Amino acid sequence: MADLKGIPIEVERRPVQSGEKFVTPQGFTAIRDGIKRSHSSMPFAPGTKPRWLRAPLATGARFETLRQTVREHRLSTVCEEAHCPNIGECWNAGTATLLGSVCTRACRFCAVDTGNPRGWLDADEPANAARTVSLMGLGYVVLTSVDRDDLPDGGAAHLAACVRAIKVANPKTAVEALTPDFQGVLRDVETVVDSGIEVFAQNVETVERLTHPVRDPRAGYRQTLNVLEHSKRHRPAVLTKTSLMLGLGETTDELLQTMDDLRAIGCDLLTLGQYLRPTANHLPVERYVTPEQFLELRGAALQRGFLECVSGPMVRSSYRAERALAGNNCGIPGA
Ligand code: SF4
Repeated sequence: MADLKGIPIEVERRPVQSGEKFVTPQGFTAIRDGIKRSHSSMPFAPGTKPRWLRAPLATGARFETLRQTVREHRLSTVCEEAHCPNIGECWNAGTATLLGSVCTRACRFCAVDTGNPRGWLDADEPANAARTVSLMGLGYVVLTSVDRDDLPDGGAAHLAACVRAIKVANPKTAVEALTPDFQGVLRDVETVVDSGIEVFAQNVETVERLTHPVRDPRAGYRQTLNVLEHSKRHRPAVLTKTSLMLGLGETTDELLQTMDDLRAIGCDLLTLGQYLRPTANHLPVERYVTPEQFLELRGAALQRGFLECVSGPMVRSSYRAERALAGNNCGIPGA
């Protein structure tokens, strides 16, 4: 607290702008929204999003209750961080982000803050996560997490501890874990896959040709395939899942090739959604894929043997995850 002649004065701290560095409550620096502001940042192009990209407002009693509960239990959610359009609907199910809110990577489509937490971890997170699931009475929970390349095991043991705590306190709750790639270290993948989860997810995000520039240099198309393949080989009963964003410049042939590559390693579930640019510092949208095109791609995926391909403009990897096996595109119209 600053003072003037011994009189404490309140210094108005202006909110951190997107792309700016800031110091986190844990004392390390990070970049707001993950990507530094640069001279080459292209302002948002005028013109409107197509009509099918309109999401319900994030309101409602359950939404507010969950936001309150998440705050009280010091949990973060990638939903808020990544500006997810479905937050209003999703939060009436159950998602939580573990390993903190600062990622060690900087993928050029993602608005999660980036920095180096230097090994910081919230030791109470497993208990808080379990308590939040109990309080919310969740039958299905999606645990997402940032990448933590600063930790020797990428956070695998901590994630597994959170899953076990949730399972002990909520034996009937099914858990889906959307994890980092652990830099391809397969024993760390096993640590999470052996923790009691029902679904293991790691996102390939885009087609092989576009992996770099879209994803952080430490991520890789083949690395993600290897991680998913090992999960399936190590524990076949655990479903594997991945997700692609469309509208970054990929062709339909490349999408079909990606589906073939994923089926070749036994991937069970796929989600396809429209990439939306979170800030002017992130990659531009190359095209808006129509709802009809999403349904055609779902058809192609089901023909290739995926248990389900949840496909639509607003779809994200955790979107209506608890309904993935209903076989009706999670109730998205037109299926
Ligand atoms: S690793 Fe995940 S959370 Fe981190 S920047 Fe990339 S997409 Fe975002």
